[in-house]
Amino acid sequence: MRKILMAASEAGPYAKTGGLADVLGSLPVALQKEGTDTRVIMPKYGTIASELKEKMVHLCYFYVNIGWRSQYCGIEMAEEGGITYYFIDNEYYFNREGYYGYQDDGERFAFFCRSVLDALPHIDFVPDILHCHDWQTGMIPPLLEAQYRSLPLYREIATVFTIHNLRYQGIYGVSDMKDWFGLGDEYFTSDKLEFYGGASFLKGGLTYSQILTTVSETYSEEVKYPFFGEQLDGLLKAREKDLYGILNGIDYDEYNPKNDPYLYYNFTKSNLNGKSANKKALQQELNLMVDESLPMIGFISRLVDQKGLDLIACVLDEILAEQVQLVFLGAGSENYENMLRDAMYRYPGKVSATIRFDNALAHKIYASSDFFLMPSLFEPCGLGQLISLRYGTLPIVRETGGLKDTILSYNEETGEGNGFSFTNYNAHDMLFTIKRALKLYSKKTLRAKLRKSAMSCDYSWRSSAKKYIKLYEKLIIRNK
Ligand code: ADP
Repeated sequence: MRKILMAASEAGPYAKTGGLADVLGSLPVALQKEGTDTRVIMPKYGTIASELKEKMVHLCYFYVNIGWRSQYCGIEMAEEGGITYYFIDNEYYFNREGYYGYQDDGERFAFFCRSVLDALPHIDFVPDILHCHDWQTGMIPPLLEAQYRSLPLYREIATVFTIHNLRYQGIYGVSDMKDWFGLGDEYFTSDKLEFYGGASFLKGGLTYSQILTTVSETYSEEVKYPFFGEQLDGLLKAREKDLYGILNGIDYDEYNPKNDPYLYYNFTKSNLNGKSANKKALQQELNLMVDESLPMIGFISRLVDQKGLDLIACVLDEILAEQVQLVFLGAGSENYENMLRDAMYRYPGKVSATIRFDNALAHKIYASSDFFLMPSLFEPCGLGQLISLRYGTLPIVRETGGLKDTILSYNEETGEGNGFSFTNYNAHDMLFTIKRALKLYSKKTLRAKLRKSAMSCDYSWRSSAKKYIKLYEKLIIRNK
């Protein structure tokens, strides 16, 4: 049985700010179903829910070297959904309020990277594949090559690195990086870790991992161009033979309108009555005008530039001139948080803005809305549109990355489509698309048909998990 260890800064029910956690919560389960032994290793954050912490078992501890310092590293273990999770425990680094945004994030995740490698002899699990995700784990592959490869235990470990978002890179000063990792000058050249005068965790992952993947086929092409490449397009172009795009799936058990415990009313593809009942209940809960016939547009996201919030700001009043309700859930940049609060203040009953992370409310919004707006500037995969489809909520998206790969704009001629989309990053193109969607949606039979075709899409993990396994096998054979 193939052994796969996934390293990430967020996973499953334990820690989530965005899609990374969904992927680390559901891909391992799908890989396990395909006959692998897949486990996850992540930091033990202070914010993990206490009922989950209570289930963790202390395995062992050892000390990890970060520069001249020797830091305690405990390993805890828990099982969730049939998957073994390992937690790197160090209260100084991880027992804090949130996950990121601390001035010493570089050192915190340097500690995490080294701890993952140092943990292997202690957890009695030497993986065939060490699968790292995003910048926080980017220095694992270079460390493995530089300092561990010659040790028998590490000799055969193959490395895969998945880019969930190229925008976040973990760039720090060269002298800090040298100190944290004990790497010499020869590693800080422009073909290795050096990045515009600093050094980059992400570049480490992209340079030293044997296989690279991104989370959709379109994004795997886009990142080879300067606009999406975040100054790493040259490197990614040079590595294109090892770069693959595999679309994310979602957990079809967690997001299931038939038995989702967060909903006011459950519903199915063949009986959608519960969907409008949910809308009414949500309107009440959020102090919106209670009217089942008013189209509701949902928006759930981290509030960052990537997500197209400037387009929304530009035509917000024009959208709200329509018969429509807007329901926002998100947290992030203060300017966008204030923009949404302001919209709620100016349009009582028509706009709701909840500025926080709230999983239960997210489920209710996905289920209750008629449309889900995702006008992203770029979108590596995007999960919001996939979750929406599952609940018969039609995505309105910009054609980029995974949004382009998963949403087919409704075509009046052929009757095909599972949502609505526009091409250019332009506020009035978005507005036009919203108006088109609202107009078509007012036709009751068409609405029912569109909802059904949305709910008939299959974006579960099955086919993508098989693709990962094929890739793992190819890599193992290549390394022989
Ligand atoms: P990204 O990974 O860029 O944040 P994705 O669309 O891939 O975007 O995934 C976002 C995930 O995070 C989805 O599961 C979405 O429902 C969830 N999410 C984002 N913001 C919030 C929030 N404020 N409250 C609850 N869930 C949220």
